[in-house]
Amino acid sequence: MNLLLALCAALAVAPVAAANEPPPAGSAPGPTGAPWAPTDPDWQAFRAAAQSARGRIWDRLAELCDVAGHRLAGSPGQVRAERLTAEWLRADGLTVSLDPLKVPVWVRGPASLVLVAPRPEPLALLALGGSVATPAGGVEAPVVVIREFSELGPQVKGKIVLFDHPMRDGLPTIDHYGEAVAFRASGASKAAVHGALAVLVRSVTTRSLYTPHTGGVFYDEKSPRIPAAAIPTEEADRLARMAARGEVRVRLDLQAETRPDADAVNVIGELRGATRPDEIVLLGGHLDSWDVGQGAHDDGAGVVESVEALRLIAARGRPARTVRVVLFANEENGLRGGKAYFAAHGKERHVAAIESDLGGGAPQGWGFTADVAQRAWLTPRLAGSGMYLRDSGGGADISPLNDDGVLSIGLLPDDSHYFDVHHTHADTVDKVDPVALADATAAMAALAWELANAPAAPAKAAARPDR
Ligand SMILES: [Zn+2]
Repeated sequence: MNLLLALCAALAVAPVAAANEPPPAGSAPGPTGAPWAPTDPDWQAFRAAAQSARGRIWDRLAELCDVAGHRLAGSPGQVRAERLTAEWLRADGLTVSLDPLKVPVWVRGPASLVLVAPRPEPLALLALGGSVATPAGGVEAPVVVIREFSELGPQVKGKIVLFDHPMRDGLPTIDHYGEAVAFRASGASKAAVHGALAVLVRSVTTRSLYTPHTGGVFYDEKSPRIPAAAIPTEEADRLARMAARGEVRVRLDLQAETRPDADAVNVIGELRGATRPDEIVLLGGHLDSWDVGQGAHDDGAGVVESVEALRLIAARGRPARTVRVVLFANEENGLRGGKAYFAAHGKERHVAAIESDLGGGAPQGWGFTADVAQRAWLTPRLAGSGMYLRDSGGGADISPLNDDGVLSIGLLPDDSHYFDVHHTHADTVDKVDPVALADATAAMAALAWELANAPAAPAKAAARPDR
């Protein structure tokens, strides 16, 4: 399960035993794509406030994307993002702290993939984050197409494996991510056991305009480390067709480097509670992104929604409990941000942790992980939110808190187009709709406001280390 913790968004709706319980009373039926329509006056008020500020909210996301750029851990973009978001929180009149931590550093180098047989032709690719380099001069070999791990065997020895396992479609799209992403995350190690030289992975998406999708490859310590790259779904389809007709050979030349850990910070902004200041409602997203595109949906949107939600709350008044925004430094390739936050603050009394890490789509639902008492405390706060509820979910960055029994809640936005751009050069701010981003900001603010003012909160649940 530790592997899955590091997969962006994979935990948002990870199934748990509690999924067998009936849906909470009053919840909307599911991801319908219908416009958000909260009926509770508090939720409506936050929506009106957010929509009146939607230009400002979107401009902040554009500033993060344009000024900081992409923000892989340990990169100059991450440092720019830390400075910028801390400036925002200070300008909003909030208490800011910067918690230091060490983050992994992986640097992409030049890479090429060439079809050698049946005819020479260059192919698009994107190395997977964390991949090792090929030997100097690259590696050339026949391609073996694999659709399920059970097909791996001695036939891949000395070959380049193409994992061609399509992501299934259907809403919410996140439900189909975990199955498909397993090939990206652990395919290299599983193929290396059988002597494969390198792996190519069909990009994890349901729609493609010839765009490769990167993401982390996680090596098993017991297997040889072999290079791994994603190719567009169009090329996965074509190579599979060609391989069925006869031998396909490719040459992969991939340069990449893992460097010593670097310094980074979790950026934390806080509005201290009026009457229960030692009880914390956490709102957050992750500040890092992959090193392509702008990380606008993943997870610039979650960062800006959290920051702007806290500003909307502060403008409304001081809630009973403390509301704390945490912009986690490293999720994509290590989850160091969430782990460092828990190490530093895990003993504080968190009554709830809320994460947005499924893109900047319009709000549709909440996925939560709760015990009976937490569930009974939470669900009345969601009445009138106009959103569907699911008894599973949270977020990767808040998973250490969740594992320790803290009520954990993940925003489930409309993700019908999230995986079109996820981890690609195309994850840019123009793909984020200002109205949807403002609505999601309002939903985050309203939920945090309700929880920060709700009556006595239940204690932590029993630890959930084996979720
Ligand atoms: Zn993410």
